[in-house]
Amino acid sequence: MIDTDNCKQGEQRGQKMEKMKEMENVFVMEHPLIQHKISHIRDINTGTNEFRKCIEEIAMLMGYEALRDLPLEDVEVQTPIEKCMTPRISGKKMAVVPILRAGLGMVNGILALVPSAKVGHIGLYRDPETHEPHEYYCKLPEPIDQRTIVVVDPMLATGGSGSEAVDFIKQHGGKNIKFMCIIAAPEGLKRLHEDHPDIQIYIGHVDRCLNEHAYICPGLGDAGDRIFGTK
Ligand code: URA
Repeated sequence: MIDTDNCKQGEQRGQKMEKMKEMENVFVMEHPLIQHKISHIRDINTGTNEFRKCIEEIAMLMGYEALRDLPLEDVEVQTPIEKCMTPRISGKKMAVVPILRAGLGMVNGILALVPSAKVGHIGLYRDPETHEPHEYYCKLPEPIDQRTIVVVDPMLATGGSGSEAVDFIKQHGGKNIKFMCIIAAPEGLKRLHEDHPDIQIYIGHVDRCLNEHAYICPGLGDAGDRIFGTK
């Protein structure tokens, strides 16, 4: 159940958020371009086309930061002048795994950075009563255990879907997992981090709280509906 009292505890919430920012493996992106674009997608007057484009751009900007530890290896290249040893991304290709359906909106932003990445999919639906997630689809690129995996979902609300998605990926052998979301509720961040302290979590902004319908406040509404224009 969602604790709506959380919404009233502004000051405590602020202090808690500061602590969360200091959690190991949790990275809150403070870049002004990301923050500016997040404000744009929060706006109820931002239409589907703009919203979709902006989600993709934010994913790309976040991806640029989140992928700064990709492993490199030196390879020999012949320039027009001479041969040299120069770094290239090493190892198996990356996998981007959107949580259906809103996560789909972030995929092209990551692919713009790493066009050779493979794309897996995880489908979860939320029980309308308990808000707990249930899997209905999971297809991951093999060999998943040798890939850097970037799970994407714009909204980390209760943390149930995110945590469950990471569970599935681990069950399939996934090891090197990063989770990227644009807006997180403190509740969801806490749950995902506690369930999976070993994964890196990248967040555009940590919002105030969840409401009684498990929507993030102030949030941006239903990310899936706004990306696909279904409302
Ligand atoms: N999913 C959304 O799309 N929005 C929320 O606020 C919470 C979950």
